[in-house]
Amino acid sequence: MMIPEYFGSMVFDDRVMKARLSADVYRSLRKTIDDGTKLDLSVANAVADAMKDWAVEKGATHFTHWFQPMTGITAEKHDSFITPAPDGRVILEFSGKELIKGEPDASSFPSGGLRATFEARGYTAWDPTSYAFVKGKTLCIPTAFCSYGGEALDKKTPLLRSMEALNRQALRILRLFGNEDVRRVSTSVGPEQEYFLVDAELYRRRPDLIYTGRTLFGARPPKGQELDDHYFGTIKPRVAAYMEDLNQELWKLGILAKTEHNEVAPAQHELAPIYTTTNLATDHNQLTMEIMQTVAARHGLVCLLHEKPFAGVNGSGKHNNWSMSTDTGVNLLSPGETPHENAQFLLFLCAVIQAVDDYQDLLRTAVATAGNDHRLGANEAPPAVVSIFLGDELTAVLKSIESDAPYQGAERVSMKLGVPALPRFLRDTTDRNRTSPFAFTGNKFEFRMLGSSNSIACANIMLNSAVADTLRKFADRLEGAGDLDAALHTLLQDTIREHKRIIFNGNGYDDAWLEEAARRGLANLRTTPDCVPCLLEKKNMEMLTGLKVYTQAELESRYEITMENYCKSVSIEALTMVDMARRDILPAVEAYAARVASAVSAKKAADPELPCLYEKDLVRRLSGLTDRIAGQTESLERLMAEMQTEGDVTVTAGRIRDEVLPSMSALRAAADEAETLTASDCWPYPTYGDLLFSVR
Ligand code: ADP
Ligand code: MG
Repeated sequence: MMIPEYFGSMVFDDRVMKARLSADVYRSLRKTIDDGTKLDLSVANAVADAMKDWAVEKGATHFTHWFQPMTGITAEKHDSFITPAPDGRVILEFSGKELIKGEPDASSFPSGGLRATFEARGYTAWDPTSYAFVKGKTLCIPTAFCSYGGEALDKKTPLLRSMEALNRQALRILRLFGNEDVRRVSTSVGPEQEYFLVDAELYRRRPDLIYTGRTLFGARPPKGQELDDHYFGTIKPRVAAYMEDLNQELWKLGILAKTEHNEVAPAQHELAPIYTTTNLATDHNQLTMEIMQTVAARHGLVCLLHEKPFAGVNGSGKHNNWSMSTDTGVNLLSPGETPHENAQFLLFLCAVIQAVDDYQDLLRTAVATAGNDHRLGANEAPPAVVSIFLGDELTAVLKSIESDAPYQGAERVSMKLGVPALPRFLRDTTDRNRTSPFAFTGNKFEFRMLGSSNSIACANIMLNSAVADTLRKFADRLEGAGDLDAALHTLLQDTIREHKRIIFNGNGYDDAWLEEAARRGLANLRTTPDCVPCLLEKKNMEMLTGLKVYTQAELESRYEITMENYCKSVSIEALTMVDMARRDILPAVEAYAARVASAVSAKKAADPELPCLYEKDLVRRLSGLTDRIAGQTESLERLMAEMQTEGDVTVTAGRIRDEVLPSMSALRAAADEAETLTASDCWPYPTYGDLLFSVR
């Protein structure tokens, strides 16, 4: 089959709606999708019925309200379409009520204290702006997930609220520029997804990969990524077959998977879709991550989405390409042709600059997980310090506005506005400084701090909100101004002056930058426990509650859950290490030491004069290492026992960062050294070399 024939074939999209709904029903539904008007039950019934018939033709037997609880992955509970008929047989039914609202027993999803267990039943509500789709034998209906009190228990609800907040404020600005025909401003995202592929057979022999998604032990292989021979290299046949299959599955679901290539590390790859509206892009990215894993299984592979599966090898991130555009098709981050267009562009640009500067801490927190802490600042990903790359030209333009000096490269300058007509080359020369956490790339910003397993919802909630807040302040100031042009000019000047500290075009991986950033007063929040408390800071609470993106209770719950997730994931890692060390590694090293020792006896039996220096020295070293491993295992275990009795999640998170993680490193160092001295046939696990280089 040709791609255009099967693209979106599993999606109940606009085309299908048009074909299968009566004109009236279609019109009402479209109004709900576009304008958010309430859907009445008779329309919902008609839509549900058509959806069911269509889904059954695609092989579906069940339906589910598909939602995104705060675990960061998606959840589904399947109900079948069958309803008993009077004659003892069954008919397939799906009502409007079932489409619009679900009541999963969701007591086991984290709520961070938002929902007492006696009120366990939250409800799910259909998000008609994201199309329903068939996955396997199930009709999936994208939904938001709330408690009975109405608090968001998921990531979709605040994301939709943040998009609405940005829409509201951006429209105010556009009206000021005399723009009356725009009805909606939305944000778009294209998330580039990195991942590793390893052989499933090898994966199954690594408890650390199975339980935690990353290797907790493993000596460096003789060859790593130093030759840079993998990046953009030829794709190996097995990987190519995987990618082809993956693309087909994604295309069927209407996901615009576009490019794929090898990444820097061996066994690492990337998939990028074509950008789309943020909430759809978020749903699609969640689906992409899921399908990457199911397709891998079909190819005898496992797809690792962890941020740092291998120490000493690049980790995986996700680049969140973000822009704002109007329903009339104008990208508000695209430099224009005329001074007037450019004034508008510069205003939106400055709004992003101020937003990122004012809410650096929230952006950092939005990507905080135990896994991502291994990447940020580790010489491969942007540092934990947030800064903006604008490129030399745009920086020079801002400088000229700030100082009222003419911009050198400008073709024409509008004297009144003091805003230059930006030279055309701007679009192409905004270089891709890969080391910047937040880079302007011509007509969009690329936020590069996200971890590969993160839901992109959090980053976009914070980004949309921060920009909405700044646009609100701008609109407040400009709406009251007598002379708009003059007011705009001073607004841009003030913003540049106050927020230029966040602009940095140099090498973000350089230590000198960290010192410079500290001098500029930029935040350097290195770990998850360092940054999450900012969720509860006054300025952030006021902004997020003021825009109605989160309630205070919702923010408190996010604080709890992020801290708790951090503690839980590191605890599982620590316990896995204890188990591996005790049951596999120590016995293996012991067995090998015994084998070497018995070689000494055998050799001495042949010739008592033999010195056996190599063997004796090796046994001594191995024995020293087993003592070290055993000692470290014991202290780690003791530490974990203490953690269990600690009640306060904030205290626990601090101790995990300060005590557990260093203790894990010490254990690993000893075990990795033992690996380099132990015969390969004695070592219990596939090595880094096996895992990284075996997929052909
Ligand atoms: P790169 O060199 O980083 O791969 P690309 O131009 O290929 O840059 O774009 C990477 C991602 O950015 C893709 O997912 C693409 O769809 C997305 N993208 C392009 N334009 C926009 C935009 N205006 N808004 C959001 N994302 C965009
Ligand atoms: Mg990119």
